[in-house]
Amino acid sequence: MIDTHTLTDRFGRVHTSVRISVTDRCNLRCAYCMPAKGMKFLPRAEVLDFEDLAFAAKVLASLGVKSVRISGGEPLVRKDLPEFVRMLREAGTTKVAMTTNALLLKRHAAELKDAGLDRLNISLDSLDPRRFEKITRNGHLQKAWEGLEEAIAVGFSPIKINTLVLKGFNEDEIERWVELVQERELIVRFMELMPIGEDDLKDVGSYFDLTALRKELTAKHGLVPATDTHVGNGPAKYWKAPGWKGALGFITPMSQSYCATCSRLRLTCTGKLRACLAYDEDVDLGPALRARDEDAARGLILKALAEKKAGHPWNEGVRTIMGMSEIGG
Ligand code: SAM
Ligand code: SF4
Repeated sequence: MIDTHTLTDRFGRVHTSVRISVTDRCNLRCAYCMPAKGMKFLPRAEVLDFEDLAFAAKVLASLGVKSVRISGGEPLVRKDLPEFVRMLREAGTTKVAMTTNALLLKRHAAELKDAGLDRLNISLDSLDPRRFEKITRNGHLQKAWEGLEEAIAVGFSPIKINTLVLKGFNEDEIERWVELVQERELIVRFMELMPIGEDDLKDVGSYFDLTALRKELTAKHGLVPATDTHVGNGPAKYWKAPGWKGALGFITPMSQSYCATCSRLRLTCTGKLRACLAYDEDVDLGPALRARDEDAARGLILKALAEKKAGHPWNEGVRTIMGMSEIGG
C-alpha cells in the first residue's frame, strides 16, 4: 500500500527529495557522460519553462518532497537560473541545492546566493590541469577553481566537490585530495562510475572500487565517521580524522549500494519523472505540468512511485540507456 501523504513506496522508503534537470545541454563533454562528437540534444521546444518545472516542485512539495537539487546538463548554461531558485522557494521548497561544473560560477555565485540557493556541489575530477582537460574534453581547471573560490567568498559553505575516481586515470590523486580537506573546509566526495548512457572512456580509465579505498584510508589516516559534518539528503557517508577542517565522502552505488534508503525522485527538463536512476522507466508529467493540472500530476507521481523497484540491476550487467546529462545527474 502506498502512503500518499508522505511519498512512501512499497518498500517503506519515504521520498523527500527531487533532482530537477533544467537542461540536457552542457559546456563540457566529460568522457563518462557524453560522446566526444555527435551528442544529440533534446529539441528546445520540448524543454519545459521554469514556470512548468516550478509547478512540478509545488505539487511535489505538497506530497512532502521539499528538497530540490537543480542539475542538468550544466544548469548554469540556462539563462536566469537565479529566478528559478526564487520560483522554487515560492513553490514551497525548503532546501534548494545545485550540482555544477563551476565553469560559469564565478559570474553567477553572488546572484545565486541572493536568490536563496542553499548548497552547492561542484564536479571536479582532477587537480591536474591536463587531466582535467582530458576528462572534460577542453575544460579549464583554473576557471572551475575560480568559480569554487568565488562561491566560498559569497558564503556557500561547506562546498562539496564530487570527484569521479577512475582506475588508470586519477586514483593516484587521492592523497592530494586528503591534503586539501585537512587544510580547508571542503567536503570531497569520491564517486564510483555507474554504467549509464554512452561513455567514451576507452583511453581514459575504468571503474574503481571505493569501499576498498575507504578501508585503506581509514587504516592509514585513522578516519572516523564525521558526525559534525552536514550530511544532506544524499547517499554519501562522511569521514575525517581529528584536526581536519574538511571531510571525505564515499559514494558507492556499485560496491555498497544504498538503494534500501533511497529517498529521491528525478525530473528531466522535458517533464519525465523517474523514480529510479537505473531503470529506463518514467512517467511523462509534461502535459499535466503545462496544463497546471495538479490532480493529474499528483496521480502520475504516485504511479511512478508505485512502480519503483527495490534496487538497481547494474551489478547484473545491465546498463542504463538514458544518459546522466538528460536524467539530471
Ligand atoms: N554538469 C553538472 C556537473 O557536472 O556537475 C551537473 C550534471 S552532471 C550529469 C552530475 C553528476 O553526474 C556529475 O558529478 C558527474 O560526475 C556525474 N556523472 C555523470 N555520468 C556519470 C557516470 N556514468 N557515473 C557516475 N557519475 C556520473
Ligand atoms: Fe556536462 Fe556534467 Fe556531463 Fe560533464 S558530467 S558533460 S559537466 S553534464
